[in-house]
Amino acid sequence: MKIISVASEVVPYAKTGGLADVTGALCHEIQSLGHEVLTFLPRYKQIDVKKPGFEVAIDRLEVPMGSEKEHCRVFSRTEASGVQTFFIDQPEFFNRDELYGTPLGDYPDNDRRFSFFQRAVLETLRAKGFAPDIIHCHDWQTGLIPAYLKTVYAADPIFKKTKTIFTVHNLAYQGNFPPDSLPATGLGWQEFKMEKLEFYGKVSFLKGGLVYSDMLTTVSERYSQEIQTKEFGCGLEEVISQRRNSLCGVLNGIDYKEWNPETDTDIAAKFGPASVVNKKENKAALQKENGFKVDPKIPLLGMVSRLVDQKGVDILVDAVEELNNEEFQLVLLGTGEEKYHKVLRNIAKKKKGQFGVHIVFDAKMAKRIYAGSDFFLLPSYYEPCGLGQMIALRYGTIPVVRATGGLADTVHPYDVSTGQGNGFSFEGYNAKELVHALKRSFRIYRNADQWSALVRNAMACDYSWAASAKKYIRIYEMTERRTIKSSGK
Ligand code: ADP
Repeated sequence: MKIISVASEVVPYAKTGGLADVTGALCHEIQSLGHEVLTFLPRYKQIDVKKPGFEVAIDRLEVPMGSEKEHCRVFSRTEASGVQTFFIDQPEFFNRDELYGTPLGDYPDNDRRFSFFQRAVLETLRAKGFAPDIIHCHDWQTGLIPAYLKTVYAADPIFKKTKTIFTVHNLAYQGNFPPDSLPATGLGWQEFKMEKLEFYGKVSFLKGGLVYSDMLTTVSERYSQEIQTKEFGCGLEEVISQRRNSLCGVLNGIDYKEWNPETDTDIAAKFGPASVVNKKENKAALQKENGFKVDPKIPLLGMVSRLVDQKGVDILVDAVEELNNEEFQLVLLGTGEEKYHKVLRNIAKKKKGQFGVHIVFDAKMAKRIYAGSDFFLLPSYYEPCGLGQMIALRYGTIPVVRATGGLADTVHPYDVSTGQGNGFSFEGYNAKELVHALKRSFRIYRNADQWSALVRNAMACDYSWAASAKKYIRIYEMTERRTIKSSGK
């Protein structure tokens, strides 16, 4: 099959969270299974197209923006796997310091930026005469593509047999804009209806994907159920329920070559399931780096996360206070909302030597935390899939999570009586239950036999892409064959 993957972030070029890991790894897996994959993202400021390997694919591409025409260049690069990556280069929109906005808020023209991007992707395919079987769209930044194919481009021969898959990585990010955003998208006012793109008086790019795609997927089985409920449906539960027969949950994987403690050159000491004793050196190094007491017996907790409401920072802060009598250390790496930066910096000041806070995006430090910690925290209110727990398991670091979404599907509580399980989890979203889970995990930590059994179980888990990529291919094949009725048309 000829498959196009479209996303606003893709590893190794641009990343703010798990979306980039997934879009980066999945296209190579699909290509390695014998399909032809082209992947598209904007050419952001940090992507240096002067580096070797980048070529100009189209020097001047005309892209309709409502009744106007804009122009851009398109760069391309062929990856070692054979995947071809295309970069939409429109400096006015994408040559900025951040991808979506600053800690104080989103860029005010995100509607124009991402409708331009999506039209430019389709115009590139037309210009290149590339007729895809599947266009796989990820999150709201690509939600208009399924709508375009069934409206503006419905009669275009290039897209005659093209089917769209829309994957929801996080339903809370919806790309909702004022109605006057609509004309620039090129979609007509007939789209501004409740059954189509209108959502509480706004134009919702996400809804475009939900309503018009041929097939919908999300990133874990549990989350595919949760988003059909009022609690996690973000107001879209009805829209999603109506499409439940075209909805699949496919668990994300992680790239086992990139996340591999046996070959990782960014950590103090390499280790694997057979040489887990070497993990100790990573712990000592992390304790030292954070100005903590270097002591193998003190449980060391790590957290690497975007600092936004979903991630449970509020209950973590309360839990840290409540755990006053326990001896532990905590390293947290993350960026996000200013209110969390402030509160975390304050605790770090108060609990110097016990609580290390790093408000930056730092991929290498993240690896040192995954490798050096004993426990990895994900106390999320909701978590569509979560990659942190899978990476932690790979590094023999025990996840402590709230049982929601993909965390519930991947972290199975350790049972002392059977010796089964790979981590700890709690149900209620509150500090008290988190504190209990942590106390439970500290007890196991102090029992050397139980602890080493648990670490063994963790490192034996397989959350590589192999199984999930095959599932996506089955979905592509099924979508190609079936004439699925999307609710938009
Ligand atoms: P989300 O997609 O909601 O951000 P995931 O758990 O799916 O959450 O993915 C998070 C990814 O981003 C992981 O690879 C994690 O290591 C990485 N990450 C998050 N924050 C940082 C940071 N400040 N520095 C480095 N890596 C980070």
